[in-house]
Amino acid sequence: AGTTARPQAEAVIDLDAVAHNVRVLTARAGSADVMAVVKADGYAHGAVPVARAALASGAAELGVATVREALALRAAGIAAPVLCWLHAPGADFGAAIEHDVEIAVSTPRQIADVAAAARELGRRATVSLKVDTGMNRGGLAPDVFDAALDLLAAERGSLDVRGVFSHLVAADEPGDPVTDLQKRRFDAAVDAMVRAGVPPRVRHLANSAATLLRPDLAYDMVRPGIAVYGLSPAPEVGAFDLRPVMTLRATVVLLKHVPAGGGVGYGHRWIAPRDTVVALLPIGYADGVVRSLSNRYEVAIRGRRHPAVGRVSMDQIVIDVGPGTDVEVGDAAYLFGPGDHGEPTAQDWAGTLNTIGYEVVTGVRGRVERTYR
Ligand code: PLP
Repeated sequence: AGTTARPQAEAVIDLDAVAHNVRVLTARAGSADVMAVVKADGYAHGAVPVARAALASGAAELGVATVREALALRAAGIAAPVLCWLHAPGADFGAAIEHDVEIAVSTPRQIADVAAAARELGRRATVSLKVDTGMNRGGLAPDVFDAALDLLAAERGSLDVRGVFSHLVAADEPGDPVTDLQKRRFDAAVDAMVRAGVPPRVRHLANSAATLLRPDLAYDMVRPGIAVYGLSPAPEVGAFDLRPVMTLRATVVLLKHVPAGGGVGYGHRWIAPRDTVVALLPIGYADGVVRSLSNRYEVAIRGRRHPAVGRVSMDQIVIDVGPGTDVEVGDAAYLFGPGDHGEPTAQDWAGTLNTIGYEVVTGVRGRVERTYR
């Protein structure tokens, strides 16, 4: 007992792969800078270690959703430029300003709130304008665009308007005309800012898909997220030379014989077609192995694929390793990753689940320990 130090379930994060992916992205970006997006705790890979690896390998800036996420990077001692863009009323703009976090503003109210927080501190806040060019989700809406520019100009004493950016609707669907429509609207927004006396110094539009597919949209900076983690935004985009960063694995904790006709797990949703041996893995839907994968996926042990059988439980899944198996308690079972151990990819899971790799990796949680190499 206690001879193996391996965690029961583990997300192994390959920081060399982060560095490699950032180099791929900086090459695609040409003369534009790279802002690595590390929101949602670095797409569940760990924002701080990913940020450090990305910055060390050529990323110039970091992007996150919330002020809190930005402050967590600062608390870890990361001094690089950080932009945050999603604010609830009452967001702590004062703390953001004090810690040199760049704030994206999307409404006249936010502009006023950031300016007020800056005045109170006796400092200028660095802001970027987030413009809605077609998503109809976040970003400055067209009907308040002129009012927002007037306010930005009026608040120049409190606000340093550093940049402008927008988010693409369908860059992962090459050929969708909405991307070019968004580019035209973005260019018009930049022109309007120049006319209003708040010319942006840094313009950015491209997410991962556009960074990979549309070098003409790189402007001054690109904002890739998912590609930093080595996943393609969508199969249509292509894999380029990205390397998946996360490997999800669990340790075999139990082996047992199941006779032909024996049912496995809740509801006996799998019946052994022959005498066999099953392996128990201590990971389940509470950890991100979603229940709708039940009977629809395989894991790799000792370099070979085996079907996961029966329902996914909260804490456990069962693998049919077959009669006469050489699998032993303590073996590592690989659920998804780059494929180095014969395992499927996060994109394979996404295909089975009719979702995207983003949701697969950000779904890893619970008792899964993150380890770095
Ligand atoms: N920019 C903004 C404003 C975002 O919200 C996101 C994430 O959705 C990204 C960039 C990164 O997108 P992706 O992960 O598709 O590269």
